[in-house]
Amino acid sequence: MDDAVLVINAGSSSVKFALFRAETLEPLCRGGIEGIGSRAAFGGAKGPEAGLFAGSELPETADHDVATRWLLDGIRNSDRFALQAAGHRVVHGGPDFCAPVIIDDAVMTALEELIPLAPAHQPHNLAAIKAVAKAWPGLPQIACFDTAFHRTMPRLAQIFAIPHELTDQGLIRYGFHGLSYQHIADVLPGIAGEAAQGRVIVCHLGHGASLCAMQEGRSIATTMGFTALDGLVMGMRCGAIDAGLVLHLIEQRGMAPAEVSEILNRRSGLLGVSGISNDARVLLASDDPRAKEALDLFAYRVVREVGSLIAALGGLDALVFTAGIGEHSAHVRSAICRALGWAGIALDETRNATNATCISNDGAPVPVFVIGADEERPIAQAVLQKIS
Ligand code: ADP
Repeated sequence: MDDAVLVINAGSSSVKFALFRAETLEPLCRGGIEGIGSRAAFGGAKGPEAGLFAGSELPETADHDVATRWLLDGIRNSDRFALQAAGHRVVHGGPDFCAPVIIDDAVMTALEELIPLAPAHQPHNLAAIKAVAKAWPGLPQIACFDTAFHRTMPRLAQIFAIPHELTDQGLIRYGFHGLSYQHIADVLPGIAGEAAQGRVIVCHLGHGASLCAMQEGRSIATTMGFTALDGLVMGMRCGAIDAGLVLHLIEQRGMAPAEVSEILNRRSGLLGVSGISNDARVLLASDDPRAKEALDLFAYRVVREVGSLIAALGGLDALVFTAGIGEHSAHVRSAICRALGWAGIALDETRNATNATCISNDGAPVPVFVIGADEERPIAQAVLQKIS
């Protein structure tokens, strides 16, 4: 039997997973269980060991506990892999967790105290940890945080201009997508060479979207803030808006906080502006002027934030695109890069059209790269470091 590590990313209605061979970090299979809470179903798996779960049926009524047990049983019953540990994506590490951590009772208590910072995600992440502990007592578990990568940001990049007592209470810019940025920081030296150690901006453009400015592979600024609502235009989220607008909705329009939250988190972004869809593919295929405006605004805001991060970095040595839109939409990349010519960016449109790894002109001062997102691999890597 080969040693393996399991990575779990639990959401409100899904449990995504990835299994890696411990010795080589080769991905063995990745997949997910969807529809938990309504009609649970295994969405299939990809990879050389995709058949691992083929033999057993997941009950439609499965909750998180049952789904997690089903996953672990699939690995155990295969008799192919000896599971060494499980790593979890945990959205919030608060001000103190700045690296992956082995989970024990004290850590669990500390993570539970952070639930108010991410009420929509943290409880599901923690439920998965409890479910694994129940289904496989004694299995080492490691928490890896979306916020941890940004704890290297200088204080000025972290604090808001609010009364300092509130800052001291942890109302600061945490930033998210940290595991995605960690992956880019890990692989970029092999792709970009020396530039990877310089001033790099990574554009994580998926349903959620953010930018990270890195120096020597460490975060020095990012666009998401206290929550993942800040920064860029996203699929359904508004990104940065005037806080006065939120007050106006509550005080002048009489909206309840839950109603405002629904508007800003679920009815804004590409969906809100277009009135059509939160999916960039749908908007790219549409000839409705609102679809165009939504995509134009998306690109415009990326450009403005890139400009801001170039100022924070004092220049730019490389630009990286990752995640769904960043990896696949030549149109959006082109729109962004055309407006960044002043910063030394010039695309080779043939390379861009084929989603090549390097999409900039050979002579351009700043190279531009397209790199696949992988939020599971840095977790598997951290797990191995922690248990060895
Ligand atoms: P998440 O943030 O949920 O992980 P993804 O990284 O998968 O999301 O990104 C989802 C976004 O990527 C969606 O807006 C989707 O339309 C977009 N996307 C995926 N494939 C393409 C494509 N071929 N062209 C343009 N956009 C794409």
